Amino acid sequence: MKHRGRYGDYGGYYVPEVLIPVLEELEEAFDRFRDDEAFVTELAELSTYYAGRPTPLYHAKRFSEHVGFQVYLKREDLLHGGAHKVNNTLGQGLLAKYMGKTKLIAETGAGQHGLATAMIGALLGMETKIFMGVTDVERQSVNVHKMKLCGAEVVPVEGGTGTLKDAINDALRYWTAHVTDTFYLFGTAAGPHPYPTIVKHFQSCISAEARQQFLDQLGRLPDMVVACIGGGSNAIGAFAHFIDDQDVKLIGVEAGGEGIGTGKHAASIVAGTPGVLHGARSYLLQDSEGQVVDTESISAGLDYPGVGPEHCYLSDIGRAQYVAAEDEAVLETFGLLTRIEGILPALESAHALAYVASLKGTLDPETVVMVNLSGRGDKDVGIVEQHRPLE
Ligand SMILES: *Cc1c(COP(=O)(O)O)cnc(C)c1O
Repeated sequence: MKHRGRYGDYGGYYVPEVLIPVLEELEEAFDRFRDDEAFVTELAELSTYYAGRPTPLYHAKRFSEHVGFQVYLKREDLLHGGAHKVNNTLGQGLLAKYMGKTKLIAETGAGQHGLATAMIGALLGMETKIFMGVTDVERQSVNVHKMKLCGAEVVPVEGGTGTLKDAINDALRYWTAHVTDTFYLFGTAAGPHPYPTIVKHFQSCISAEARQQFLDQLGRLPDMVVACIGGGSNAIGAFAHFIDDQDVKLIGVEAGGEGIGTGKHAASIVAGTPGVLHGARSYLLQDSEGQVVDTESISAGLDYPGVGPEHCYLSDIGRAQYVAAEDEAVLETFGLLTRIEGILPALESAHALAYVASLKGTLDPETVVMVNLSGRGDKDVGIVEQHRPLE
């Protein structure tokens, strides 16, 4: 059992006995519908006409001039909802419908996945409950309001620190008691098997499109693909179709926060050690007693103490490299891209851009780098203003 869904030493499903048949039912349904003609057609239509795929691959010429090599942005920020999250919620929401489920539940931290799920609940006419820590409910009141407007119920979670990891625990607990009609729509490429596989599948459209776009627009593949890492869903989607292209470097950028030495960060692979969280083994931020520690980052969307199992594996075997970007550099790069390209990146995506900006002057001018622009920064303008007030 524990061997299924393994990426090297990571992944698996460390869950209470009652959840095992539920996860098996999910795996079977996913295997059945992922290539089912009706399912594939409906998902393709909604991806095009509802979500806005394909997204452009944009040559950021002024940003390229600034860094001294060629930077292309995969514009997931232009999707419905303003981020890559809709790729996953659309896919899993449709899977729930094909499985005959009538209710959706999801966890959320910053509220972005909760909102992306609430939108799909509305679209598919499914009753939707979003579990959210009380601290987050307070901090993210605008997203809470938007979820309610979409008709979702927001369930405040009291336990622990009232943040994302507590919301996931409660959602899993609720699911065990309501499995017959309820689908748990998990938000990132982590959690117990088969979620990492499912989320990767639905996010892989990013690299499937980008790979073809590079061949069409440049007649060649990029030298490097860079993406930010929270739980790892936009990154694994951006990496997936390039993993077999050994010449394409893959770089995941974690939230270095105020710096790895300060303890205020969310860099699970860069600074964590292996352990089990939310049903899977991965690199984790934990103390010497194995207690999961609270993460801290300027971008709430990267604040997760664990990380998807495939990233842990890709790191161990050296196929992908993982680095951390600190808050100062992230804010700097948010400002830079906005000023010279007129594109406001999400603070999450600005981590990937900050790493690329740090390579300024070190690469050959012909080098081609793709940055996955996972989301737009409109939601972050307030936070940026607090740290960098305009004159
Ligand atoms: C949620 C989010 C992330 C982090 O999640 P992953 O699963 O690591 O992709 C990154 N960027 C944006 C814009 C997000 O909304």
